[in-house]
Amino acid sequence: MSEELKACPFCGRTDNLEFQSWTEQVGNDDDGYSQLVEVVFCNNHTVSAHVDIWQSRPLEDALRADLCAAKEAYDRLMDYRRKNTLNFQLEKLDDYLRDLHIALTQVRYE
Ligand SMILES: [Zn+2]
Repeated sequence: MSEELKACPFCGRTDNLEFQSWTEQVGNDDDGYSQLVEVVFCNNHTVSAHVDIWQSRPLEDALRADLCAAKEAYDRLMDYRRKNTLNFQLEKLDDYLRDLHIALTQVRYE
């Protein structure tokens, strides 16, 4: 496990996390196979999950992407305003405001 473990989604702590991995046999001796099991435990309240699930934060990632898009739209708008104080084009401003509105309203709850 080379990737840093993300904080516990329940308590937000990282100091009580424990990573364990082992190999276990699946199936019988004739057609079975061994697989690597990697699990993260939070000893703060005995929660555990497979490391792929533990490290996956789809809602947080979506919210960060939406926030980043909103910040970029805002920066473009402010940059445009700084550069066009005398020659202000309302159509361009409307485009930037629409982008900002879309970015701010595309919060996904999946
Ligand atoms: Zn926890």
